Amino acid sequence: MKLIVKKEGQVEFYIPDPSEYQSIYSAPVFYNPAMEKNRTISILLLRELGSGLTVCEPLSGTGVRGIRYVIESKAVDKLILNDISKTAVEIIKKNLNLNGVDAEVYNEDANVLLHRLKGVCDVVDIDPFGSPAPFIHAAFKALREEAVLCVTATDTAVLVGRYSRKCLRRYGSTVKKTPFYIEIGLRNLVGYLARVAASEDFYIEPLFSYWEAHYFRICLRVIKGARNADDVFNFLKYVEYRRGFRKIVDVLNEASSGPLWVGPLGEPAIVHKMTRGGVYTDFLNLLEIEYAVDAPWYYRTFEFAKGGKGPTLREVLKYTKEAGIYATPTHMARDGFKTEASYGELVKTLYFY
Ligand code: SAH
Repeated sequence: MKLIVKKEGQVEFYIPDPSEYQSIYSAPVFYNPAMEKNRTISILLLRELGSGLTVCEPLSGTGVRGIRYVIESKAVDKLILNDISKTAVEIIKKNLNLNGVDAEVYNEDANVLLHRLKGVCDVVDIDPFGSPAPFIHAAFKALREEAVLCVTATDTAVLVGRYSRKCLRRYGSTVKKTPFYIEIGLRNLVGYLARVAASEDFYIEPLFSYWEAHYFRICLRVIKGARNADDVFNFLKYVEYRRGFRKIVDVLNEASSGPLWVGPLGEPAIVHKMTRGGVYTDFLNLLEIEYAVDAPWYYRTFEFAKGGKGPTLREVLKYTKEAGIYATPTHMARDGFKTEASYGELVKTLYFY
């Protein structure tokens, strides 16, 4: 296998020479440059979590994520890497050497490792390709009583409801067609994590969660305690959508989707601190204001079209502001905006233009 040296963030590392393979998916060890933002944003969070952390990344690939966490966050005391592939483990060891980083490295099934780790991790980062669902129960076994769970999902089509039977099987949820399907997908995954957490006697508090083109990323604070875990169900509801109108309901019906997490998708304060890193600041600023809007959906400008022509996002923000309605853009759709106002109020405000 021919290796080349790549650079990402402050780290150089070996990957299989991409010119020898048809796609990143057929390379013997997986490295996706399009996940740079995912890794960098996670580093910004680790910096705000303090120091001396034990971090386990049980689906390591080349190890780039864990190595960047150590070098760029300076918050990691102990790093645990693992991959089921022998070739991946060889590359992980080379990359640790190259960077002078220490780690425990294992070559086993992620779930076996996580079960064995039993409550020692401050952070577990589940970053597979495809669905994280098979690893979530085990992740809770490895976490301390107060800890952080980070999860990436690239099975976005399933989560947004494009393959509804698969979604029901994998996540136990039902998703209907809506103009705000990205947020439904994100809340579908948080909802799933919340239910698995509850079954393991953990409560969750999202630190941040977001969507980018091909994946969802969620980092949660998790807190052990059966009594707290019961509270999770206050935020597990269904979202009903009918011709513009949206509401939170308690049951599944012909127009509702769920169970979905309808609580906050993140903590504005921690996301604000994460901007201190000086990268992805516009994006983080947007997340911060989105998280302060208490509504599990967004609207799209075309929902207010008259005679085939809708307002621009700019116009929406101007007219809502003039009407005293608070609205913000959303990272989930270029033509989308979040607000606590109802569809009826928005129609009154936007139809005149
Ligand atoms: N987290 C990495 C990318 C990992 S890709 C990054 O940020 O770059 C997913 C990896 O999980 C692959 O290397 C694959 O070999 C490994 N994998 C798949 N199933 C596994 C399992 N059950 N246990 C451990 N590793 C597994």
